[in-house]
Amino acid sequence: MFDTLSDRLNKVFTGLRGKGRLSQADIDSVAREIRIALLEADVALPVVRQFIAAVKERAAGEEVSRALNPAQQVIKIVNEELVKILGGETRRLQYAKQPPTVIMLAGLQGAGKTTLAGKLARHLKDQGHAPVLVACDLQRPNAVNQLQIVGERAGVAVYAPEPGNGIGDPVAVARDSLDFARRAQHDMVIVDTAGRLGIDTEMMRQAAAIRDAVQPQEILFVLDAMVGQDAVNTAEAFRDGVGFTGVVLTKLDGDARGGAALSVRYVTGQPIMFASNGEKLGDFDVFHPDRMASRILG
Ligand code: GDP
Repeated sequence: MFDTLSDRLNKVFTGLRGKGRLSQADIDSVAREIRIALLEADVALPVVRQFIAAVKERAAGEEVSRALNPAQQVIKIVNEELVKILGGETRRLQYAKQPPTVIMLAGLQGAGKTTLAGKLARHLKDQGHAPVLVACDLQRPNAVNQLQIVGERAGVAVYAPEPGNGIGDPVAVARDSLDFARRAQHDMVIVDTAGRLGIDTEMMRQAAAIRDAVQPQEILFVLDAMVGQDAVNTAEAFRDGVGFTGVVLTKLDGDARGGAALSVRYVTGQPIMFASNGEKLGDFDVFHPDRMASRILG
């Protein structure tokens, strides 16, 4: 996903090879090229501004080390600033003091929530947990069925309204799932919610009502990294409409520019916690800002 950004940044670094010391003019020119590379990758403007200011200040500052040549210095600074923008430390899941821990998924339709629900459940199961998936997307006729297939594939239980009971109330399903989880000794409850194609007040209202009913320890905003610049607006709408404690980036295997998704941590203040990079159950990992920065820098 970040091939173009990687190529552009590497060209900037290559241009610095063989330089003895960086003049202010060199630093300005490097900063300008990095700025263009970030903007072309769809990184949000406030993030680019902050990034460039930090790089300029540090490249001109006292921390210039004798052990590194100018190209290495700039790479080090860019790397560290990327890690910072991406959140610094890896953020782990928070668990309830009394099980079950509830994780609610929110995001637009097609963002990859249901797929992610299966991946997350499998990941937790591999760690020795006993998760249950809860089908609260009762909007699309096929959504419950889809979650059941995902659950089967992941080898985890699915709690869903009985077929034939009408459309059902997703808030009631969410609430009842907690009793079910306690009875059946599931220590983690993953609640899949309905999305719409665009931001919609009814969807936000429903997600907020589910949130209030189950009081999740984590609300994960699932964001399709392929959507480009809309990512930031969508993230802000969900932050304001439902609130979330973490972000999951999906479709990182795609060939879009991806920079908007990289901006989401900075723009919303919430950490990116997981990354999805394919349709298979195993195409999933805990998000490590340092590893992502290294990947971007090639
Ligand atoms: P939901 O509407 O948010 O529940 O989204 P789905 O989980 O149904 O995913 C929408 C589509 O995106 C499906 O075709 C998934 O197979 C696909 N998808 C989900 N995650 C990924 C991913 O990380 N990479 C790729 N390439 N496709 C994905």
